[in-house]
Amino acid sequence: MTDARRVAVIGAGIAGLSAAYDLTRAGIDVVVIDPADRPGGKLRTSPFAGVDLDESADMFLARLPWGVGLCRDLGLEPALIHPAIGSALVVHDGGLRRLPEGLVLGVPSDLEALQASGLVSEAGLARLAEDLARPEGPPPDDHGEDRSVGELVRSRLGDEVFEVLVDPLLSGVNAGRADDLSAQLGAAQLLAAARRDCSLVRGARAQIPPAPPGGERAPVFAALPGGMGTLVAALVDAIGADRFRLGRTVTDLIEQPDGRFRVATGPAAAGDDGAETVDAVVLATPGPVSAALLGSRVPSAATELGALAYASVAIVALAWPAADVPGDLDASGFLVPRRAGLLLTACSWASAKFPHLGADGLVRLRASVGRSDDTRFVTLDDTELIGRVRAELAQLMGIEAEPVAMRVHRWIDALPQYRPGHASRVAVVEAELAERLPGVVLAGASLRGLGIPACIDSGRRAAQHLVDRLVSTT
Ligand SMILES: Cc1cc2nc3c(=O)[nH]c(=O)nc-3n(C[C@H](O)[C@H](O)[C@H](O)COP(=O)(O)OP(=O)(O)OC[C@H]3O[C@@H](n4cnc5c(N)ncnc54)[C@H](O)[C@@H]3O)c2cc1C
Repeated sequence: MTDARRVAVIGAGIAGLSAAYDLTRAGIDVVVIDPADRPGGKLRTSPFAGVDLDESADMFLARLPWGVGLCRDLGLEPALIHPAIGSALVVHDGGLRRLPEGLVLGVPSDLEALQASGLVSEAGLARLAEDLARPEGPPPDDHGEDRSVGELVRSRLGDEVFEVLVDPLLSGVNAGRADDLSAQLGAAQLLAAARRDCSLVRGARAQIPPAPPGGERAPVFAALPGGMGTLVAALVDAIGADRFRLGRTVTDLIEQPDGRFRVATGPAAAGDDGAETVDAVVLATPGPVSAALLGSRVPSAATELGALAYASVAIVALAWPAADVPGDLDASGFLVPRRAGLLLTACSWASAKFPHLGADGLVRLRASVGRSDDTRFVTLDDTELIGRVRAELAQLMGIEAEPVAMRVHRWIDALPQYRPGHASRVAVVEAELAERLPGVVLAGASLRGLGIPACIDSGRRAAQHLVDRLVSTT
């Protein structure tokens, strides 16, 4: 008997929507509150040169179960598509080179392929040979602590492989420095590889799932033809559009004498203070917002979530007639190592990756700029930013023609930067929260991963926690 219970989900990003979906399915009365004028948070798809193009995330990891699982529950699984091209390029010596086969988050497992790629010097290859000469089996000095990806990879494989392969791949995901990134949250496969074998290369090899006999490997990424907005729309539909209070910023969570919560919001319509009184709350907001709403009641939240750093990025979408783009677009795009010194950090060849985005004869690219330690784009206006991006694309891809469409989306303070030990410190915050405010539960990218699947998992776990709690207290 949970139908009399009411829960506020604060934040309508993918984590909040996933929580609201499961709460609704459990028969709980849900209200979803967000300051934006539309749900989805960081997930946004909009028309661009005649197609629906994502303004931010355009695919998610299919090897983690939670993204595909939610699509299955929503009836979207048959619509899932996968990138048509698996291989990517990297900027090297001022040009584009193909990344070798067999990389595990940038760590090479196939040294012949790496040597043939020409990306790593003789000295770098010799360092990998040293790694392979280490004894087989788990390192005796590994006590299971988290550490930075930089510490893990540089110490085992040297600086070159880290700077040419690992850092560009990982900073393509979180726009940060792999030197500062928690291996547990940002590169769990590498941490597992390092724990499995004294040689990181051997450990990485063991991370590659064997190809099924005679068959192809399962796709790594999944997407939706109409973009991530399709997932958001399906969730809103399932939750019920009337459950959303958009254009409202939650300003306070006030405990009531009966153990319920008053969720104060602003701005509200005249004659309506905008407040909601609920039995429980899912806080699916960015870390600093969650910390501020919990305030001094949960001191560890301020130090961990309140102080969580975020990187800002921009996505510049550009389109040209195919005839204006020289060469074959036979990769999913390219990555840019820091040492290349460019404004670009990556470029997704969207219409090569997803051919339906180029079926009308236009080539559509999504160029990324901005990292935790490179905020140059923030001070450029859109015209200057597009000019800089086009100049770098001309240098790397030889595209000189005027695009037929261009747009810029800026994502300020968007991508959390997890320091080593973040996951354990979040566990402390959650334990303190459970003790001091047991009706409030956290979800979202500030906790245990910024990828869409991890955010979905956090939302669904939050919902399950509250369903269990509300049922047991009814
Ligand atoms: C440019 C870019 C590209 C990305 N690419 C990928 C990708 O390809 N694959 C992938 O898996 N991931 C990708 N990500 C990461 C992923 O999209 C995000 O980490 C994820 O969507 C975050 O979801 P969330 O629900 O935790 O947070 P958010 O989407 O940030 O949602 C939080 C919500 O809280 C609301 N809020 C804030 N303050 C308040 C308040 N006071 N009261 C009420 N509500 C409030 C916000 O308005 C927002 O809607 C990308 C991210 C960006 C920015």
